[in-house]
Amino acid sequence: MKNKVLNSLLYLVFFSFFYASSQLYYNKNIIKNLELIIGKSSNLHATWVGSKQVDRNIPILILAGHADSQGMAGAGTPGEAVHKFGLNPMHPEMSDELFWNLKLQQSIVVIGKKKGLNIRSYDPGIRNIDDATDPRTNWSVGSKFAKNGGYAIEIHFDAYGKYGVGSGLIPPFSETPNTIDESIASKFGRFPVVYRGGLGAPRRQIRILEIGKLEGSLEKNLRNLKTRKRTINFLANEIVQAFLNGIT
Ligand SMILES: [Zn+2]
Repeated sequence: MKNKVLNSLLYLVFFSFFYASSQLYYNKNIIKNLELIIGKSSNLHATWVGSKQVDRNIPILILAGHADSQGMAGAGTPGEAVHKFGLNPMHPEMSDELFWNLKLQQSIVVIGKKKGLNIRSYDPGIRNIDDATDPRTNWSVGSKFAKNGGYAIEIHFDAYGKYGVGSGLIPPFSETPNTIDESIASKFGRFPVVYRGGLGAPRRQIRILEIGKLEGSLEKNLRNLKTRKRTINFLANEIVQAFLNGIT
């Protein structure tokens, strides 16, 4: 009888140890996989921590970076494939970055809704609005959304090679970073609050998420029709999961 108890106890200890280490391995693997897909995250010095609690049902707005600034200076990166290797752009009237920003924006909202987030997107539709204060721009709509208590975030792909920094979250300029910011930064990395003197979006309390540099295998996986959908969905899933982790 004693032996039996001892045996099941040993079994229990063994099993929980096995379970814990397999979980650890599994988690590590996910992080590794994300890095394999998006490349290195920003190694800029950033000390902020997002600890402000957010409401479970906080409204979330996803903006596609450069959606209103095509054909001008802030059009977004053309990416390594076009700029360095001379391949055709994905779309004749927009930068490759915007092309991918829009695809990812859509996927984040579809997956986010399925998982119960209070999430939506905004697309100005007009691709070149000269005046940043025009009420139809990303920044005007995002700024209003943030003022009303929502979480507005603009997604971007970073420039390739030495022109880019890598993945990471730029927190809002004058608002205290919250637990969603922390959750996203722990997956994607973090930029300093005053990155490049405080960019237009963060100054309007709109977060910026740099997914990764538009180069190498990330760009190849996006461009290849066989891996495109899987790659977009993988990235969208990671972002949605970061939201879910940040609000529970
Ligand atoms: Zn961008």
